[in-house]
Amino acid sequence: MTSSSDRPISFENSSFPEEHPAYATHQAAIRSVQRVIDNSAPYQNVQVASTGLVQLLKLKPLILTGAGMSTDSGIPDYRGPEGSLRHSRPMTYQEFLHDDAARHRYWARSFVGWRHMHQATPHSGHEILARWNAADRISGIVTQNVDGLHQRSQRKADAKAGAMAHSSPVIALHGSMDEIECLVCGTKEDREAFGHRLYEANAEVAERWQVAHADINPDGDARIPQQWIDEFTMVHCLNCGSDKLKPTVVYFGEIVPQQRKDAISALLADSGALIIVGSSLAVMSGYRILLEADRARKPIGIINLGPTRGEERATFRWRTGVKQALEWLDKHLV
Ligand SMILES: [Zn+2]
Repeated sequence: MTSSSDRPISFENSSFPEEHPAYATHQAAIRSVQRVIDNSAPYQNVQVASTGLVQLLKLKPLILTGAGMSTDSGIPDYRGPEGSLRHSRPMTYQEFLHDDAARHRYWARSFVGWRHMHQATPHSGHEILARWNAADRISGIVTQNVDGLHQRSQRKADAKAGAMAHSSPVIALHGSMDEIECLVCGTKEDREAFGHRLYEANAEVAERWQVAHADINPDGDARIPQQWIDEFTMVHCLNCGSDKLKPTVVYFGEIVPQQRKDAISALLADSGALIIVGSSLAVMSGYRILLEADRARKPIGIINLGPTRGEERATFRWRTGVKQALEWLDKHLV
């Protein structure tokens, strides 16, 4: 979802010759997807970590969440124990743009996976963060997830708080699955409306297509047999008729818009600390936020089941499930 190169990509081939300028970007994206995070800091006593995080929460921290936040909502992690990277890797932006067969395969898989993603609902951890945000206890929520669960919780918490709501908007670092964008003419379409069109075009086969939970990625990509891919009918842009359609999500190999990065920097500057929740920060655009906090000498806390990149820079590291940790913290905050 991030790139080591800001070089514009312009080529019409559907393959990636090694001498092509896009090749390095593509390779960097694949390395980012496949990065394995090792322990870089010693294990910290649970009591030290949990009470330390209570103290960080009193400093009005910025919260940065990742895939570990959504696993309790039934959305699998790329890198967790059941992580889908074990059998496939997400598509890169370069493939999306230039490889027609890969794009067709993506949409066939997404058509199947979307229904599963769509049924996921926020859990108590999302609700706690949304409530903290509405009460101005945290400076904001930045999420690497594209599932929209924080935004849904926040709308609910804000409605409940009414005129007392002080939330800052949830920032989706890598965009969200809510919209589809045409890469040729820029026309956008609501994901739900697009989903209906896809369903109509594939109604005959759709009922036969059911996949197991473990075969679905956090971006709604599902592992399906080649035969389904062959049978799948793609729909086209309502404005220009192109099939170069992409969710408004920042893909591996694509760059996070500068405006969004600036908004996050501004939020971080206003924060007394940074707390990372449910992320290994394997992707550079997320890791960069930890580095920025460290440079600004803001204390850093981590709540994550596994190791997190840059954890040696964190004062408090709580190795645990995200949902129960947030529930515990919520109870112990005064
Ligand atoms: Zn179009």
